[in-house]
Amino acid sequence: MSNPRVAIIGLGIMGSGMASRMLSAKFPLTVYNRNRDRAAPLSSAGAAVAGSPREAASQAEIIISMVADDIASRIVWLGENGALAGAARGSVLIECSTLSVAWIKELSAAAAHRGCELLDAPVTGTKPHAAAGELLFLVGGSESALATARPVLSVLGQQIIHLGPNGSGALMKLVNNFMCGVQAASFAEALSLIDAGGLDREKAVAILTNGAPGSGIVKRVATRSATNDFAPHFMLRLMAKDIGYAIDEASHRGLTLQTASSALAVFTRAIARGHGDEDFSAVVKSLQQN
Ligand code: NAP
Repeated sequence: MSNPRVAIIGLGIMGSGMASRMLSAKFPLTVYNRNRDRAAPLSSAGAAVAGSPREAASQAEIIISMVADDIASRIVWLGENGALAGAARGSVLIECSTLSVAWIKELSAAAAHRGCELLDAPVTGTKPHAAAGELLFLVGGSESALATARPVLSVLGQQIIHLGPNGSGALMKLVNNFMCGVQAASFAEALSLIDAGGLDREKAVAILTNGAPGSGIVKRVATRSATNDFAPHFMLRLMAKDIGYAIDEASHRGLTLQTASSALAVFTRAIARGHGDEDFSAVVKSLQQN
């Protein structure tokens, strides 16, 4: 059986890696990005470049979006020349961006109205994992839509976890990321206390990363801050967005995420200090004395 035609909308850090991976696996691919310059390397590698999300969607059976946030997702799916208007009945729409559960539910209803099915399939993994096909997909949606999407998702990821109906993937991703954000923010505060107290930073960080607090995320932030390398793999402002969506989702359910709110304050301070477009590990700079 030949590979299905795929469209990828959104060629940022993650979407461009995923698109390259689709081309390496010989899937017929159409791409769209708001800033067209970002499509040029993929065009050279064999992708067709569409002038709008609608045009991209009209050329594919599987339509993937990988954009920044709810606002961007609404624009690319439902805006003027949005992808949904171009999608043929029976297409499967895969929303891989990290978004709010409320928006995913609204989008899945709009997709159903058009005779299409939506999967919310946000990912864990970052820039190198996207390009290498090593993402983990957290999926919400029907079994049948997932069966159709599986040949594509299994090229992009090492693991596909089906969590339930639409919104389940989005919710799991928000839980995952608010915990990552809390740990990164607490590491930033730990560093400030280590420095203020005059401890040897290298020794102190090694004790933390080799000990009980040394989670994957704490190790990652520790490594990036030790090498002073804050080139973005996952932008700090996007982590703040995810923590905010998690807080809002909890609040809709009558819950207060106290640690998430504290972490968001630390990330907001980092953004105010101009670190929003750096890697989220630059959160360690939010507490440094200038
Ligand atoms: P990114 O590099 O900032 O790319 C964002 C993409 O969204 C770009 O294609 C951008 O287009 C597009 N976009 C933003 N606002 C738009 C708008 N108003 N209308 C149309 N397009 C718009 O971000 P990323 O790191 O690839 O992340 C993409 C998604 O994956 C986010 O939801 C993020 O939270 C999630 N995620 C990221 C990582 C990671 O490690 N990076 C990991 C897991 C999940 P332009 O190029 O025109 O600006």
